Amino acid sequence: MKNLPTPHDLASGRALLARPLLPLARLAGFLYLTGPFERIAELLGELPDPIEIGGVLYPQPAALLQPYLAILQEFEQFKHPTARSYRIIDESGNELPSMEAIDLWCSHHLLVQELEVINSLLCAPCGCTLCCTGPAAEMGQVFFEIPLHAAECQWFPLAAMDTEASRATTPYQEPPLRRGDLPFYETAPALYHWQGGWSLILPRNAACPHLEPTGRCRIYPHRPEVCRRPQIFSYVLEALPAAQANEVTTYQARRSLLAVWDCPYVQVLQESIAAFAAACELTPVFRQNKA
Ligand code: SF4
Ligand code: SF4
Repeated sequence: MKNLPTPHDLASGRALLARPLLPLARLAGFLYLTGPFERIAELLGELPDPIEIGGVLYPQPAALLQPYLAILQEFEQFKHPTARSYRIIDESGNELPSMEAIDLWCSHHLLVQELEVINSLLCAPCGCTLCCTGPAAEMGQVFFEIPLHAAECQWFPLAAMDTEASRATTPYQEPPLRRGDLPFYETAPALYHWQGGWSLILPRNAACPHLEPTGRCRIYPHRPEVCRRPQIFSYVLEALPAAQANEVTTYQARRSLLAVWDCPYVQVLQESIAAFAAACELTPVFRQNKA
């Protein structure tokens, strides 16, 4: 791996980590619920400028929250109830009351969107391609998996395996799926339709076909969702597999922020990430993914 970036290299992403939006969004939600506002947008128009929360200054708070308006509108459930498309359970399987469920749903989705911006700013200066390459020879794993939505497969000019055998197994099941005479991970990078959906498999020493020699992504504006969201993740909620079609999405409350230790900027910014999680009232979890 290249040298770690310096905190100075990461200044723009670090500045956003030091100003988490969730405390501001929660204040806005509280003011909406306790005020005369019919809609969240009206509340944003009335916010004072600037706002300070816990020693963090938020200049132009309405502008900061505007990109998250569609998420914050979930608070309108309290004044204009509609059927909710999700339910949230605690660790014992009990459904959480509406107030807590809506707060967690908004928190999770706001963080997902905010962290996409922060992760992109932090990744760019690192000169690292760990997320876009298969395992190096010295690593224990024999392949890396990049999960894809079905519609995202069109961006990858690769062979695709979509057979009864592939759809009946997972990449981690023994014996491994065979492609020709070989286990799938001993063949060239390819797309597979597994039991749980599509993924791109990068065998040892392989690279995503869109990784340029310069280390840049050739399809950056169209890169898959999974490529947009490494390596600090919202783990406020975990979506559980649906038991039946048409079921509302069930989430388990996790109330955590997950950071993957393999990533150079996570290593450099451990304290900033922990402080970001604390400000959002989440438990930071640091985890090694690739070894
Ligand atoms: S699509 Fe781009 S970001 Fe995603 S793995 Fe390939 S090169 Fe990396
Ligand atoms: S490990 Fe981190 S720095 Fe490296 S490519 Fe992935 S997100 Fe970027």
